[in-house]
Amino acid sequence: MLVIPKGVEDILVLIDILSNLQIDFHIIGAGTNILVKDKGIKGVVIKIANTLSCIERLNNNILRCGAGTPLPSVCRKASSVGLTGLEFAGGIPGTAGGAVAMNAAAFGGFMAELVDTAEAITYDGEQMKITRENLEPGTKTTRVLAEPLILTKVDFALQQDDPENVQKRMEEYFRERACRQPMNLPSAGCAFKNPTGEGAGRFIDAAGLKGVNIGGAKVSRLHANFIVNDGSATARDVILLMRHIQEVVYSKFEIMLEPEVRILGG
Ligand SMILES: Cc1cc2nc3c(=O)[nH]c(=O)nc-3n(C[C@H](O)[C@H](O)[C@H](O)COP(=O)(O)OP(=O)(O)OC[C@H]3O[C@@H](n4cnc5c(N)ncnc54)[C@H](O)[C@@H]3O)c2cc1C
Repeated sequence: MLVIPKGVEDILVLIDILSNLQIDFHIIGAGTNILVKDKGIKGVVIKIANTLSCIERLNNNILRCGAGTPLPSVCRKASSVGLTGLEFAGGIPGTAGGAVAMNAAAFGGFMAELVDTAEAITYDGEQMKITRENLEPGTKTTRVLAEPLILTKVDFALQQDDPENVQKRMEEYFRERACRQPMNLPSAGCAFKNPTGEGAGRFIDAAGLKGVNIGGAKVSRLHANFIVNDGSATARDVILLMRHIQEVVYSKFEIMLEPEVRILGG
């Protein structure tokens, strides 16, 4: 069952009911980094996208966002009010909350580094504040995923700049992304985390896997760390292709690639 809460109160009531009934639940944002297995998900999925959606500029260069606010809207807002810092993230799909939870990153920028404070709910229904210092970011993870917590609001600490300059930088990143990434076919972004210092895509490419497919799932020829769906892929196709990539890359380079895509369901 999919539930889209209207606000924080709904989430608190919902998780209380679900824990009393001992029903599992999963939090998703917009689902842009999630692969759902073909049999679906048991329990309840709580979707925090198109809800908890608001953006407000505070006096001190803080941009306050509901966790469900689309990240591209947050970046556009920052640019329009002359706040710099988020330009690298303008082309990352999904929500502000999902990006912080995952410590989404691009072009050398990391979401967790821009967080001033955030509001969250524990799975026991406790409301809490998190600061940048105790967000515990890692490669495509933070304590939000590790514990796990439910993010409801994020304050981004940005710097003042000329709106035109901010907009220009964001557009440059958009252009670069359009050249490097397959935007014409569905994907979940990068399939694997980058092993320290090196892009996962370089290993996949060097292993000769570009263009390899299993069913409708194919290693993109443009960016080897993207698995694209020709429209007919099942989740099984994607998972088998991911395993194949891991095996071939390991056999050639003794590097075990770690999935970045979050796999849900059974
Ligand atoms: C074309 C394309 C390009 C991409 N480019 C990039 C890129 O450049 N850099 C990058 O890092 N990623 C990239 N991604 C991956 C993805 O867009 C990001 O990771 C994004 O930040 C995920 O946000 P989401 O709201 O969709 O989260 P989801 O995919 O819904 O969830 C991701 C994880 O975060 C958790 N989560 C989501 N919201 C919350 C919340 N409110 N509270 C607690 N936990 C939450 C979920 O439980 C899940 O574990 C790309 C994806 C695509 C399809």
